[in-house]
Amino acid sequence: MSELAIFGGKPAVPESLPRYCSIGEAEAQAVARVVRSGCLSGFYGSWRKGFFGGELVHRFEREWSARFGCKHTVSVNSATSGLVAAVGAAGVGPGDEVIVPPYTMSATAVSPLAYGAVPVFADIEEDTFCIDRDDVARKISPRTRAVIAVNLFGHPARLHELRALCEECGIILIEDNAQGPLAEENGKYAGTIAHIGVFSLNYHKHIHTGEGGMCCTDDDRLALRMQLIRNHAESVVEQAGVDDLSNMFGFNLRITEMSAAVGIEQLKSIDRHVEARERVCQKLSTELSGLAGITVPVVRAGCRHVYYLWSVRVDPAVLGCTREAFAKALNAEGFPVYCGYVRPLYLLPLFQKRMALGRQGFPFSQSEVRYDSGLCPVCERMHFRELMAYEPTNWDVDEDTAELLIMAFRKVHAHRAELVGLEDK
Ligand SMILES: *Cc1c(COP(=O)(O)O)cnc(C)c1O
Repeated sequence: MSELAIFGGKPAVPESLPRYCSIGEAEAQAVARVVRSGCLSGFYGSWRKGFFGGELVHRFEREWSARFGCKHTVSVNSATSGLVAAVGAAGVGPGDEVIVPPYTMSATAVSPLAYGAVPVFADIEEDTFCIDRDDVARKISPRTRAVIAVNLFGHPARLHELRALCEECGIILIEDNAQGPLAEENGKYAGTIAHIGVFSLNYHKHIHTGEGGMCCTDDDRLALRMQLIRNHAESVVEQAGVDDLSNMFGFNLRITEMSAAVGIEQLKSIDRHVEARERVCQKLSTELSGLAGITVPVVRAGCRHVYYLWSVRVDPAVLGCTREAFAKALNAEGFPVYCGYVRPLYLLPLFQKRMALGRQGFPFSQSEVRYDSGLCPVCERMHFRELMAYEPTNWDVDEDTAELLIMAFRKVHAHRAELVGLEDK
């Protein structure tokens, strides 16, 4: 009989992994204090004290700016909202194009549509899975108004190079840094290298406030435009003395004092939470590098990777079995992995049917941009054949458990010949 758990052997990881939780007693007490005060939000939607939020919102934003080393932080109720505010602040509108990667959460590519602009997809790099700078350069057109780079899985995109490229072309670079708190490129935090950087504080990220997002910028004008979009811009532009009225219609993207209270506590423990994920993933990478057909995550020189995902590449030709069979066997051993991340976004019905705002195909009807399958071949190969992922932000794994995960991986790898044709059995 085989030793592999998938064929009835004893699993290498005997118990299911505990869930990761970053929330503790400090957060509970901070929320209780706000609730007892009776003032759950300090925001006013008019031009008076409170337009920029209550006391804890101010404090949270100040402390976030200090921690990440940026001039302004604008808190919002999600990273999705943050991307909408950022794209609006950048002045994106109908007729414009925004270059984005196809391998990311859908919000990245949808944010330009909120202003009647279309996303143009640039392919990704096969080692970091982040947007390919050279493909961005090829796709810049006279219509390009902004680029959104995603620091995917917690590894920075080529941010300094992309910023230089964007400045040369007079366009805005936005970082979607939802997955990369404390990631770094060349000594600077991801989320602070582009003109605007957007963080997520949703439940699945390294630290969270349930729902939430933070937008960082050093630019006074972009900061104010995001604050206006966050809070009913149209009602206050006169008093605020704003003369560029583009996209100055606002939403309600505000957070509560309770969210800010939780965020202030989460920020205090961010190093501990990020470092714990980093340590385990570095151990997995060190111990599992060099296995035939397996490539552990690459960390580019000068970068800090914070591992929202630990992303392994599988070469089925060298491995001798499919990624799917390998992943199935790993899961049976108690090492939770999955194949691929999100489908390349241009394959979504939104782009295939070219239907977004209303029923007439706007804004795609105004654009020649195409979304054919095969558009980004590297992304498609990674998604459909090579990428296998473990989610460190889902599980609370210490170094002893990491040893078990490593044993599970080695065991499946050693017995991989038994997995040939597993799909058919
Ligand atoms: C989670 C995530 C978002 C959206 O974050 P929300 O706060 O849930 O809106 C956007 N982009 C990426 C890359 C993400 O991982």
